[in-house]
Amino acid sequence: MEDCIFCKIIDGELPSENVFENDTIIAFKDINPQATHHLLIVPKKHISTINDLNENEGDDALVGKMTLVAKNLAREINLSGYKLQFNVGKSAGQVVFHIHMHLLSKG
Ligand code: AMP
Ligand code: ZN
Repeated sequence: MEDCIFCKIIDGELPSENVFENDTIIAFKDINPQATHHLLIVPKKHISTINDLNENEGDDALVGKMTLVAKNLAREINLSGYKLQFNVGKSAGQVVFHIHMHLLSKG
């Protein structure tokens, strides 16, 4: 998707500090962390918002996999607790319109 910064990160056109990557999902450090640990878990498929998820295209499984990536990263980093967050829509604070799960933790 043109002009999408996360698609550019996925395509290697913009730098990122990756902590995980497989065929469908990438995870990297947030450039402006709001917690000691702030990671973004991002599907490689461009989907603008949670409202655009389509179960007929397997997006239900994709979001499930994103959650499991978050769980595995939290275990690797040895987090005692963490928050997972999606911002949906401008009024809720979404600024990047390519879905991403925030993983936020004090440690
Ligand atoms: P949201 O408000 O849910 O759309 O969150 C977008 C997040 O993306 C913010 O926390 C930003 O700090 C983060 N962000 C924006 N550009 C980059 C980038 N190039 N690399 C890493 N994180 C980014
Ligand atoms: Zn995108």
